[in-house]
Amino acid sequence: MRIDVVTIFPEYLEPLSVSLVGKARQRGQLDVRVHDLREWAHDRHNTVDDTPYGGGPGMVMKPEPWGEALDSVLASGDGKPVLVVPTPSGIPFTQELAVELSEQPWLVFAPARYEGIDRRVMEEYEERLDVREVSIGDYVLAGGEAPVLVIVEAVARLLPGVLGNAQSHQDDSFAPGAMSNLLEGPVYTKPPQWRGREIPEVLLSGHHGKVARWRRDEALRRTSQNRPDLVERCDPEALDKYDRRL
Ligand code: SAM
Repeated sequence: MRIDVVTIFPEYLEPLSVSLVGKARQRGQLDVRVHDLREWAHDRHNTVDDTPYGGGPGMVMKPEPWGEALDSVLASGDGKPVLVVPTPSGIPFTQELAVELSEQPWLVFAPARYEGIDRRVMEEYEERLDVREVSIGDYVLAGGEAPVLVIVEAVARLLPGVLGNAQSHQDDSFAPGAMSNLLEGPVYTKPPQWRGREIPEVLLSGHHGKVARWRRDEALRRTSQNRPDLVERCDPEALDKYDRRL
């Protein structure tokens, strides 16, 4: 997969060189290219923002540098990327969307600063590309770079061969399947006792069916505690089917 990020803070994307994403890049599974938006700003101060029409506080990112930058990125590859624009006013970023994005060969990210990007940029590229305005949560950050890190990491770990054990993301919270919309339950490792605390006996039983059943019960318990909204969206038939397999 190829990923381009256009930003005024290229150094903010340095974490994309470490850990899972960094290794995926080293192995050639991910081709990440970070571009400085100011290269496409032509005045003496490399200005990328201006005051908002209609008045009000804050600044808005100008359309010209974004247009030139995105045209240049688009011209540097074959085919059409999906353009991902982080914004608190976008659709929620979910595991489902992460899966969908992980199936694309090319993603271009346009993280903004200030009050966001002049709306005409999205209108322009919506005519040519699949544009996704995506929010990572109901809060407002200072810029879109942290959301890019979040989205890229969620997407990269779904790419074939990126995680050592492909099974691990299939059991995650929100993973599609019978347990979709459920949060993952608690996890344990050695030693079997720690500060007088035991691990649940069933996990030592070696009985796969019982362990799976316990995990499903714990997932339901945790989901109803922390995210009752998700339990309401849970498909009882899928859970029944899952139970019958145990
Ligand atoms: N005025 C905008 C609003 O209220 O929707 C907020 C702009 S915010 C200060 C600057 C940039 O940070 C946004 O354009 C976006 O790129 C990014 N950003 C902030 N919060 C975000 C979130 N929850 N999800 C995705 N991107 C976010």
